[in-house]
Amino acid sequence: MTKNMYKAFLIKYGEIGIKGKNRFLFEDMLVKQINYALKPVDGEFHVRREQGRIYAEVLSEDYDYDETIEALSRVFGVVGFCPVVLVEDEGFDKLAEDVIAYLDHAYEDKHLTFKVNARRARKNYPMDSMEINAAMGEKILDAFPEMSVDVHHPDVVVSIEIRNQINIYSEEIPGPGGMPVGSNGKAMLLLSGGIDSPVAGYMIAKRGVTIEATYFHAPPYTSERAKQKVVDLAKIVARYSGPIKLNVVNFTDIQLYIYEQCPHEELTIIMRRYMMKIAEHFANESKCLGLVTGESIGQVASQTMQSLAVTNEVCELPVYRPLIGMDKQEIVDISEKIETYETSIQPFEDCCTIFVAKHPVTKPSLKVIKRSETKLAEKIDELMKEAIDSVEVIWAEAE
Ligand code: ATP
Ligand code: MG
Repeated sequence: MTKNMYKAFLIKYGEIGIKGKNRFLFEDMLVKQINYALKPVDGEFHVRREQGRIYAEVLSEDYDYDETIEALSRVFGVVGFCPVVLVEDEGFDKLAEDVIAYLDHAYEDKHLTFKVNARRARKNYPMDSMEINAAMGEKILDAFPEMSVDVHHPDVVVSIEIRNQINIYSEEIPGPGGMPVGSNGKAMLLLSGGIDSPVAGYMIAKRGVTIEATYFHAPPYTSERAKQKVVDLAKIVARYSGPIKLNVVNFTDIQLYIYEQCPHEELTIIMRRYMMKIAEHFANESKCLGLVTGESIGQVASQTMQSLAVTNEVCELPVYRPLIGMDKQEIVDISEKIETYETSIQPFEDCCTIFVAKHPVTKPSLKVIKRSETKLAEKIDELMKEAIDSVEVIWAEAE
């Protein structure tokens, strides 16, 4: 036996708050997301439900165990998963041999305490669970004298479940928790090439929300590589969230127009308001229930409480800011964990950095900003329409 002795993974998921109809939705979405996560993995899998359980079963002779573990570790809603050995029912003595072979390979060092936890899901098995516990405990002690029984705080719980096939497992690998993507509606992420917004997308997806994204670029002031970086970030986030529909909006003319007409220290905040408006347009088109940004209070001038209030004012949809109370280092830590960091720090300018003023307003007043925006009356509607009509849609899929 090797690591590939595991022919199935038993998926454990949180059940709090998922009664009745919601439970089916939750499980459906979970199965769908597990399938999606396993798609790029070397091997063939079948994800199935059985008696209130979800199994990812291995169909192929061979498969990549480490990749499988990595993939399952990314599926929101998964609390933990157990690699399972499946054996046919060929009598208790044969089962004991299989359990002993399993333990021999799973644990190099046998100085462990254990208990057997049998479950007879198939009632025609000739021994009940208490009898299996006792008899199997003895067989294990005979085979491995270094091991000893501890029913209260064992190092290893040897689970033996008598089903059509018999399941043997003892290890649980932690999953990310959260809720399966698709179980909590859809939201529109404003995705830039920075560190924060991919993390914000990850965190919203963790709560079961499907994400779509909008990116604003300003060619030729921003390069093709800056755009590619955002696509690459979306692909990484898609490992967790499932495929992301990315709307790439050409923002150049709007940005230049604001630059011509409005005070430069108000540029960022006015630009941000138009970004929100356009993102909200796409959000409504795709039936999103909210917008998501990577803002955090006080991080930069455009993220003071006053600035956030002024930006917020243009939107009718709620704006979710999952990073609102986090320090930069905490955000960086998550971006490293989810592997967006290295891509985020590539040095390609994003469209906001090009026109930034030396001294942007930090306490904008809504009245003043609105007055400045009246100077855009002549052309802004037309420019917004053009930007919306010329959107480029890119589907970002995990690679
Ligand atoms: P990030 O690291 O996410 O870029 P940041 O610290 O650079 O954030 P800002 O540039 O002030 O912060 O942007 C605040 C938020 O506005 C971003 O988190 C993102 O949600 C949105 N945003 C900024 N620029 C763009 C853009 N070019 N396209 C889409 N969304 C953007
Ligand atoms: Mg940014």
